[in-house]
Amino acid sequence: GLQCGIVGLPNVGKSTLFNCLSNAKAQAANFPFCTIEPNVGVITVPDERLTKLTEIVQPKNVVPNVIEIVDIAGLVKGASKGEGLGNQFLGNIRATNAIIHVLRCFDDDNVIHVDGSVDPIRDKEIIDTELQLKDLESIEKKLQKVEKAAKTGDKDAKKAFDVLTTYREHLLRGKSARTVAVEEEDKEHVADLWLLTAKPVMYVCNVDEAAVNTGNAYVDKVREVAKEENAEVLVISAKIESEIAELESYEERQMFLDDLGLTESGVTKLIKAAYRLLNLQTYFTAGVQEVRAWTINKGFTAPQAAGVIHSDFEKGFIRAEVIKYDEFVKYNGNEATIKENGKLGVEGKTYIVQDGDVMHFRFNV
Ligand code: GDP
Repeated sequence: GLQCGIVGLPNVGKSTLFNCLSNAKAQAANFPFCTIEPNVGVITVPDERLTKLTEIVQPKNVVPNVIEIVDIAGLVKGASKGEGLGNQFLGNIRATNAIIHVLRCFDDDNVIHVDGSVDPIRDKEIIDTELQLKDLESIEKKLQKVEKAAKTGDKDAKKAFDVLTTYREHLLRGKSARTVAVEEEDKEHVADLWLLTAKPVMYVCNVDEAAVNTGNAYVDKVREVAKEENAEVLVISAKIESEIAELESYEERQMFLDDLGLTESGVTKLIKAAYRLLNLQTYFTAGVQEVRAWTINKGFTAPQAAGVIHSDFEKGFIRAEVIKYDEFVKYNGNEATIKENGKLGVEGKTYIVQDGDVMHFRFNV
């Protein structure tokens, strides 16, 4: 499955958030290194459209989208040189598809800060630097490998050398690979390195209750630097989230949120944002047996989308019948009426599946 890794310095609230996100139990305790093993949680992605389709179709079974969240602990200054649990930590990040970077934006004298004071920008830079150093190592290794061939005039090696050099200089300036100015097609020269700082990132500001609607001065600073990276910033209070998680019923949770002036929980916001960060899309199948959300990459053709269900669907693909979500809802899922009104599209192999499409595949076996 697709994975989002939660990173951040010790004691910023990662495990508290992770606990709220997943059923897996990671222990939250007030000292660094409390979450030593990486914890993986499989999380349902909330989607109002799936709820609506279920209401209409009344199927026997409902299957939502899921993503995996990994709580990655143990990053401290020097991790790229193997300090703390450095290498293990970095290996765990390499396996993820996107990064949720948690920053401590709350004051609390009872919660020790590893670097003595609350400063989310410094914290962010500590983590960024470790990841950049590790990437630099990967780049330099590959540079050495291609250097000789590049000098003897091998065109492809020369190109690789130039691209790698651009990355090297960018990283040496303290920047992350995701912001490098390199043509999309040239990025193939670093694809095999699985660069840590090339992964999409979002920032989660962990604030206290008072700041959850308004933000605070720490959050303002985070927003400023995130803007330069085009990265999303979420303001969440891990403490509030853990209180919400304790509540038994949906109604209780909703009342709690209302009292705080919130429309949805931070955890819900976070999962939705993580899904966006992974650059994924959803299509639906809606039968009486099962209503189901399927995860695809943006730009998937109809056969590729069918292949997510089963590889035979892709191989034997004939055509797809497509109903836009809004039309499906408008006509209450009545296929005959949808057809009469010209809202049932019959699409071939080149059709690019759109987010929210309700699909029915015809295929040969
Ligand atoms: P991690 O090391 O980043 O995984 O941090 P933890 O989730 O274990 O949290 C470290 C400590 O900070 C725990 O004692 C938490 O209860 C506390 N903590 C986490 N989030 C908040 C918060 O939003 N506000 C306050 N005051 N304390 C928090």
